[in-house]
Amino acid sequence: MTRGMRHFNVVVLGAGGVGKSALTVRFVQDVFLETYDPTIEEAYRRILDVDGVKASLEVLDTAGAEQFTALNEFYIKSGQGFVLVFRYHLCLLFRFITYLSPSLTQEASLREVNNLRQQIYHIKGGDITIPIVVVGTKLDLVAEREVSRSTIQSLVARWGIPFYETSAKRNWHISDVFQGLVKQMLARHPDD
Ligand code: GDP
Ligand code: MG
Repeated sequence: MTRGMRHFNVVVLGAGGVGKSALTVRFVQDVFLETYDPTIEEAYRRILDVDGVKASLEVLDTAGAEQFTALNEFYIKSGQGFVLVFRYHLCLLFRFITYLSPSLTQEASLREVNNLRQQIYHIKGGDITIPIVVVGTKLDLVAEREVSRSTIQSLVARWGIPFYETSAKRNWHISDVFQGLVKQMLARHPDD
């Protein structure tokens, strides 16, 4: 039996500079967004085939406000699936830069993911089955030994949320993120 196209609203959230726009643009246009414009906020559309089902995704790349805003609340209300983005640990040179700009560290961006996760559950009326994936970005910048992978994996496992390690630059595991999210959304909305 063939089915019609399914439509889903996906919202990409996370701290500024973690790589939300690069992730989104790699997924919808298959190019790497080199320039960093933290103010860009845009909705994109892409059709994805997941296990034989065609899913039309509207992907909203948000402009990463660090604190809770009314706009954030509006986006969360309209979203059916969420991509929560943090950036992986940095190499030594970048660590010095982030010392000067602490909002960009892995710890800070992971904290932001945790805040967003709690906001989503709160705004969705305490529903902890809402489709979410957590994404660590910029894996290409990280030396293997610098990634505190097990810490992050156990944290995300405690949250019960699937976790992906990506690079928008190298196109590592970008489509897996959205495939995984669509599977959760299809399981949650099997017919409507
Ligand atoms: P946003 O504020 O979360 O949307 O962050 P952006 O997507 O604009 O990324 C911030 C900066 O990091 C940009 O200069 C990107 O080119 C860069 N960037 C994003 N993803 C990657 C990646 O996977 N690898 C590398 N090396 N740089 C990245
Ligand atoms: Mg952006």
